[in-house]
Amino acid sequence: MGTLSKWLRITVYGSLMSLILTSCNTDHLASSSVATSSFTIQSGERLMHKTSKSVRVTPSDTSEYPIHPDHLADEIIKGNYEQIYSQTSQAFKQEVPWDTFLKVLSSFGDSVKGYQAISELKQDHTIRKVWIDEQHRRGIVAVFANQLPDYPDQTILGLRINDLEQYPATDHSQTQTIFSPPIQQNWQVVWGGSNALVNYHYEYPNQRYAYDLIVTQNGSSYRGNAKKNQSYFAFGRPVTAPADGKIVKVVNDIADNQPVGTTNEQQPAGNYVVIQHANREYSMLAHFRHNSIQVQVGDTVKRGQVIGQCGNSGNSSEPHIHFQVMDQANWAESTSLPVQFANHFSPIQGETMYPSL
Ligand SMILES: [Zn+2]
Repeated sequence: MGTLSKWLRITVYGSLMSLILTSCNTDHLASSSVATSSFTIQSGERLMHKTSKSVRVTPSDTSEYPIHPDHLADEIIKGNYEQIYSQTSQAFKQEVPWDTFLKVLSSFGDSVKGYQAISELKQDHTIRKVWIDEQHRRGIVAVFANQLPDYPDQTILGLRINDLEQYPATDHSQTQTIFSPPIQQNWQVVWGGSNALVNYHYEYPNQRYAYDLIVTQNGSSYRGNAKKNQSYFAFGRPVTAPADGKIVKVVNDIADNQPVGTTNEQQPAGNYVVIQHANREYSMLAHFRHNSIQVQVGDTVKRGQVIGQCGNSGNSSEPHIHFQVMDQANWAESTSLPVQFANHFSPIQGETMYPSL
């Protein structure tokens, strides 16, 4: 993960979160556990030099307890750090002592006047919420317990605050082609959007505007044995061409990861297809099920045509579709492009992607 060198990161809840969120990471198209629940300090230097300001540690009279997930960012601005800390899990407190917590939160508490909630992902008995400030310069991620065994509801399992990178030159552009979601039913966007807190790919130019899609039922992506690919609602579902085009790359011979949770970092995309569209735009669909791809290089495909089945090949932590559009056929060398969908549809993490042809 490229950003680790910049951040002092304290992972609070890594093992369970790896089961909760699917992602692709690193300079390769990858997928692995995600430190969404980590407590992050943007730099050690910042911590060293910004601890002298006075900090209110007494909860204000107007605050509720426990703090509702919708109100956490407001409470951070108000400086109710002690109350927030008291709502964190024991594991969090063990990883992040109060002194550290106070120093870090107060170091971030200077300039931001308001945060806006931009996404909410309910999954596997947690709620993950993301806020960004008005200038899109700083963001907060928090993960709360939601009917999670052994945790009172609204327990804060993880918290991360950090400054955000922006790429305005591409953030505000769009593909010329209007793409359709590469699916036949409703899928959930587990990573997608134009900042690193809602879209893990965003830090990497060749995947910046990619989407990871899963299928959920009652807030879970699987039923039964979590180690088996067949337990996942996404596994085996049809994946369709997102627009008319020509097949320019197919890999189809890579085994699905078994048990779920193991990953193949040597062949990060797993089984995948690249389609050349008009306007020199290329879509990539990755992590297909072993031997499920039904098209060959040179084939012409129509929008909505089934090209294979969702799988768990490559650097994938559970069955999901990775979908991106880029400026050339070689994904590793490409520049990722924000995808234009019909009707100004612009899904981000936690939202549903609907098939719309
Ligand atoms: Zn991905």
